[in-house]
Amino acid sequence: MTSLCIDLHCHSTYSDGTLSPQHLVERAHQKGVNVLALTDHDSTGGLADAREVAQALGIQLINGVEISVTWNQTVLHIVGLNIDPNHSALMAGLAELQLKRIERTQQISAKLEKCGLDRVLADVTALAGSAAATRTHFARLLVQRNIAKDNQKAFKHWLGRNGCAYVHSEWTGLAEAVAWINAAGGQAVIAHPMRYKMTVGRLSALLTEFKALGGVGMEVVSGNNHPSDRENMARLTQKTGLLASVGSDFHSPDNVWNDLGAKLALPAVCHPIWQDWELSV
Ligand code: AMP
Ligand code: MN
Ligand code: MN
Ligand code: MN
Repeated sequence: MTSLCIDLHCHSTYSDGTLSPQHLVERAHQKGVNVLALTDHDSTGGLADAREVAQALGIQLINGVEISVTWNQTVLHIVGLNIDPNHSALMAGLAELQLKRIERTQQISAKLEKCGLDRVLADVTALAGSAAATRTHFARLLVQRNIAKDNQKAFKHWLGRNGCAYVHSEWTGLAEAVAWINAAGGQAVIAHPMRYKMTVGRLSALLTEFKALGGVGMEVVSGNNHPSDRENMARLTQKTGLLASVGSDFHSPDNVWNDLGAKLALPAVCHPIWQDWELSV
């Protein structure tokens, strides 16, 4: 019997990942992952290609998406798992977000051009290829041009909240994101809850509201998050009754600290989000 190696959060070239869905699934296979969810930002475009390779390699592919939400001025990411990517409400919602991305790409480009850079819009659009640009693409452009040393520095000085090209984004509402996922037959999961740097009270309010709206899970293990964070998040699942999810949030082989399937074991107290799934492993 093979043991379960599950990774429910990663990105391909359909958003800000550097690997095509095909290469992503191949890498997951090399790393021993046997259940994989592809969760591109606001896009399900890579799922069909990923599924083809996953079937050939014997990986169980979970249809996923990571939806951008603005909740009380804070940007949150809500992962949808086991969604039907062809469901009309979900498709319409994601199309709306893609349009917002295009609009924001123009705004960020204009700000960077005001800061003295040239040809930003053309180059970032080329870098993003067929995907709608994300701030990660802007960060890569700044690194390529030797303006920033790495992506983190690009966010710190240019693209993040205190950067000169920061643009506030009004994505979709929390209620809408959860409703689209549920309508599409999926399960809504709060992505990387620790990354929002919320106070305990605010995070608790988020979890309560999310659950009341029909959300069912939260990531307890995310990328290389700290063991103490995992323990804290595990406790929150016990308190709230939310199911626990795990995901590397893999974007690129360059980020060696959060590779596909690496170190994603769930604390024993958690109820895994996959507890009622039909797993072929
Ligand atoms: P966007 O949805 O276009 O605002 O882009 C958000 C993406 O940027 C996230 O999914 C991360 O992949 C990346 N990101 C956000 N903050 C940082 C950071 N401080 N350093 C590197 N990448 C980041
Ligand atoms: Mn990303
Ligand atoms: Mn995210
Ligand atoms: Mn992600």
